[in-house]
Amino acid sequence: MYWPGVIKHFEEFLPVTSKTPELTLQEGNTPLIRSYHIVKKIHIGSLWFKFEGMNPTGSFKDRGMVMAVAKAKEDGKKVIMCASTGNTSASAAAYAKRAGLTCIVLIPQGKIALGKLSQALMHGARVLAIRGNFDEALKIVRYITSRYPVALVNSINPFRIEGQKTAAFEVVDWLGDQPDYLALPVGNAGNITAYWKGFKELSARKIIKRLPRMMGFQANGACPLVTGQPFEHPQTVATAIRIGNPASWASAINARDESGGLIEAVTDEEILAAQRMLSEEEGLFVEPASAASLAGVLKKNREGYFQGKERVVGVLTGHGLKDPDIAIEQCKDRIEEVGASSEEIVERLGIRNELV
Ligand SMILES: *Cc1c(COP(=O)(O)O)cnc(C)c1O
Repeated sequence: MYWPGVIKHFEEFLPVTSKTPELTLQEGNTPLIRSYHIVKKIHIGSLWFKFEGMNPTGSFKDRGMVMAVAKAKEDGKKVIMCASTGNTSASAAAYAKRAGLTCIVLIPQGKIALGKLSQALMHGARVLAIRGNFDEALKIVRYITSRYPVALVNSINPFRIEGQKTAAFEVVDWLGDQPDYLALPVGNAGNITAYWKGFKELSARKIIKRLPRMMGFQANGACPLVTGQPFEHPQTVATAIRIGNPASWASAINARDESGGLIEAVTDEEILAAQRMLSEEEGLFVEPASAASLAGVLKKNREGYFQGKERVVGVLTGHGLKDPDIAIEQCKDRIEEVGASSEEIVERLGIRNELV
């Protein structure tokens, strides 16, 4: 079946007018993949992964970006701007080109994964690497976009949240019902805000009877929503959630409390172990931040949090190819060097006997 992208497909749920320009890279409609292997380690009914890495630029950011860029164009803007830990810039750069707009991105110098940087550059965005962190970059972008005719496309732009809430609609469409828990990584907290808004709209329209509990996970070194205090120097291997002062702070806390859910922290070690588990056991290659959802579910399982029958959906926010450095660092020792000789390779693999 032809998939027209999120704006067209979910038109009746979105702020679309007769003047909204058509814009799509056919984002959305991402797979909800059932866990075969990891689920056996967890005391729950079923586990599903919403693989947002399958979006056109490789992260969930495309859902919100297509909406924000379309609305910027509708508003007559020629230039869009964002601060980014990487994926927002990749997405903004791609959709700006698609819409015929200019894109400016501010990134924290040296703290952005290679895949994401290459995307922003290849799509011809103006990339400014600031000597500072994400939170400082966002402050500058807010200042500039409030004074000049430049559209801000970070997730404080409400159209980003509108577009991103469509992921909740898809989870319900694919499952046929609401999950009991939705686990996701939390950085600037736009996504947890968007999912919660999406589920609540389905509930208001009586499309679902109950609401899922939201389980947000931050990295230990960047978990302001857990400690209640901004982090001046956020640190984590999961660069996409390396954020010390989330812009959607209040709405994340609201999503947690209204849903009867939680926002907790996981360590970098737990995040990387979950990332390896997803690729080694389930065939799903995700970037480190995305693995925080599984790391969190595993942690809650160890604490005896689940009853045994729950349906849990983990959001895998971005593709593993986004951050090849962190991946290779974890497994480069596994490459075996051998001579260009079939004899030697047969010997090394120990398959001599089976072959005769
Ligand atoms: C942006 C991003 C996040 C964090 O989402 P927020 O809306 O900022 O909480 C998590 N994972 C990936 C891969 C991202 O790109």
